Amino acid sequence: AALLRSVLNKKVPLQLGRCYSASVPTTKLFIDGKFVESSTSEWLDIHNPATNEVVGRVPKATQEEMLAAVDSCSRAFHSWSETSILSRQQIFLRYQQLIKDNIKELARMITLEQGKTLADAEGDVFRGLQVVEHACSITSLMLGETLPSITKDMDTYTYRLPIGVCAGIAPFNFPAMIPLWMFPIGMVCGNTYLMKPSERVPGCTMLLAKMLQDAGAPDGTLNIIHGQHAAVNFICDHPAIKAISFVGSNSAGEYIYERGSKNGKRVQSNMGAKNHGVVMPDNKENTINQLVGAAFGAAGQRCMALSSAIFVGESREWLPELVERSKSLRVNAGDQPGADVGPLISPQAKQRVETLIQSGVEEGAKVLLDGRNVKVAGYDNGNFVGPTILSNVTPNMTCYKEEIFGPVLVVLEADSLDEAIAIINRNPYGNGTAIFTSNGATARKYTHEVDVGQIGVNVPIPVPLPMFSFTGSRGSFRGDTNFYGKQGIQFYTQIKTVTSQWKAEDATVTTPAVTMPT
Ligand code: NAD
Repeated sequence: AALLRSVLNKKVPLQLGRCYSASVPTTKLFIDGKFVESSTSEWLDIHNPATNEVVGRVPKATQEEMLAAVDSCSRAFHSWSETSILSRQQIFLRYQQLIKDNIKELARMITLEQGKTLADAEGDVFRGLQVVEHACSITSLMLGETLPSITKDMDTYTYRLPIGVCAGIAPFNFPAMIPLWMFPIGMVCGNTYLMKPSERVPGCTMLLAKMLQDAGAPDGTLNIIHGQHAAVNFICDHPAIKAISFVGSNSAGEYIYERGSKNGKRVQSNMGAKNHGVVMPDNKENTINQLVGAAFGAAGQRCMALSSAIFVGESREWLPELVERSKSLRVNAGDQPGADVGPLISPQAKQRVETLIQSGVEEGAKVLLDGRNVKVAGYDNGNFVGPTILSNVTPNMTCYKEEIFGPVLVVLEADSLDEAIAIINRNPYGNGTAIFTSNGATARKYTHEVDVGQIGVNVPIPVPLPMFSFTGSRGSFRGDTNFYGKQGIQFYTQIKTVTSQWKAEDATVTTPAVTMPT
């Protein structure tokens, strides 16, 4: 924190220091090791979701600025990829400490721009920090393979090598964690990195960039541009960019996957979700609390939120209790003590969520708890929706088919586990799911038969730790190599295979070998 304070500008709200301009809180670009003001004429407002006040502005970077950023990445690649792996490791060891030291500062920025509660914002930073910590074991992660004596005097070995300039395009809902899934893993492998944070929450990425610079990352190894479609198209099209990591909605993710792949790039694209929690009638106490937390935490704006619950058999009798516990959550601005559920990102998001609730009502769902028209004292203009529960939901309803991305739990019922599994396997998404049960055989059957990439057994939000990978599947993912863990290293590296022969004694080859060696 002291480090950041030394570059603060008192005139700037939020004490953001060098990442922001001096007189108005405009977000800078980070190009070739310098935080620079954009010369663009196109700016987007950044709003505090609890009040809708404009708290900053973010530029749509110009073509020249984007070219300068990618050129900087290209220039830095040679020396960075040749920098010893131990030196790169040291930078990320210092980086993880700086993130730890500044976790509260980062969380304040997240709450201001994104709206989530401060405690949840710290969790956002913490889960990203774990990826950086994991990146510090690059000396093991990047090992190649060897096989001696393939034939007489001949050995084969592989190197894992960086691929060049990589790029990341991030969503608004995890301003720290998701950028930290991207550039630390890409860079520690020896790639240089072009980041485009969400235009709605750019501040956290800027602070993270400053910390990485302070940790010793050389100029040009990380560049940051801002913008929307033009910046995304630039990334998809620029020939110097070899790989794109995207996290966000299906409409953007499918487009980026297609456009980037067509241009010969590797693309990993993590997208939307509809995650189901299956409630078996055998573990009430544990289940209800877990379900409430996973449905309404972060105001439901998590790709792993449990937004659909399937109550199996007699567990449907627990619904009144689920409603009572949900009612007890406090809806408030994220920086207010005791807040459980913060605002949605924008008035448009609030409108969309309320429209989807209404569609449920019109299509025959029953509103057990209605969070529309929730009042938050002192925050009349905030984008608040309170916890909402719709029961009697069926798979043909719009509120089930669409990702709501708000604090809305849709409740379905099933007579058996088989029926619940069939519902989930018919849903196009495959990001995450959880089963709540005290029966091992039930849990095993579920994990075996459900076609979803990440499964929790009595764990409501089973986001894997970074030694594993984030393995959402089906409609929630495009690409073939997942984020972080071993797969993340694979995504950001290519293999060079060497086959060498060193004969023990001098045996001169007397005739040319024109047939394939066998
Ligand atoms: P979004 O798709 O609107 O934005 C993500 C990024 O794409 C932003 O940087 C944005 O500038 C860019 N973008 C947006 N629309 C675009 C378009 N039409 N063409 C090109 N680029 C575009 O997503 P969001 O609203 O910021 O994030 C919420 C979504 O992200 C939800 O669907 C959520 O499920 C998903 N998400 C998925 C994961 C996961 O790991 N599967 C994690 C977090 C969020």
